[in-house]
Amino acid sequence: NVSHEIRTPLTVVAGFVETMSNLPLSEVERKRVLALMSQQTQRMQSLVGDLLTLARLEGSPRPAVDAWLPLARLGASVEMDAHGLSAGRHRTGFDWGDDVQLAGSEAELLSAITNLVANAIRYTPEGGQVQVSWRQRVDGAGEIEVRDTGPGIAAEHLPRLTERFYRVDGSRSRDTGGTGLGLAIVKHVAQRHGGELRIESTVGQGSRFTLVLPANRIKLSEQTPSVAA
Ligand code: ADP
Repeated sequence: NVSHEIRTPLTVVAGFVETMSNLPLSEVERKRVLALMSQQTQRMQSLVGDLLTLARLEGSPRPAVDAWLPLARLGASVEMDAHGLSAGRHRTGFDWGDDVQLAGSEAELLSAITNLVANAIRYTPEGGQVQVSWRQRVDGAGEIEVRDTGPGIAAEHLPRLTERFYRVDGSRSRDTGGTGLGLAIVKHVAQRHGGELRIESTVGQGSRFTLVLPANRIKLSEQTPSVAA
């Protein structure tokens, strides 16, 4: 899978390099070829970036349970990315709870939440809604839920979504800059933090991705971790 995913954009770029070296191109053609080359190199960059992220996740110890960070700080960064990506095409809502602290790797949790929100925006057509909500369950576990009013995903695909390079619609994924690795990364991050990724979806109605974190990695403001309460 990896070799196919890397080889395809590389072959396209190599072809364009050949074209540019052998054919006299008009200014218009030259610009077009360069734009296509740039698109393919960006695709390779995202792919290599995501592969390195996965390799790091696999090769490093579990994130510490005593390194606390405010969810609101992650949230501010996620919101900025979301607004950039949506460019006003969606209605968005964010609720990060009241002074929630999480224990874990800031880079990993940020990457996981950003991936879910970016997917919600990329797959939801203009005019749709994306809502992110924090919730603490009665058992103390915490949930970051990303809900969208997009096309939804048929039941038969749901169990396979977190497999590397599994895509429901390949061309749609690639057109919006997808690598097919996003949900594999999210699942990995969830599991490394002792949590899980839950996926629910109904075709035509939208999707709900929930990142669940265990009680020992959550505390509200100055209180001790809820597992100890
Ligand atoms: P990609 O880079 O292709 O988005 P992901 O691993 O993030 O890769 O997602 C895997 C597949 O799951 C996507 O190709 C898409 O088909 C589907 N998917 C993910 N999020 C959503 C969503 N919010 N709505 C509809 N389909 C989604």
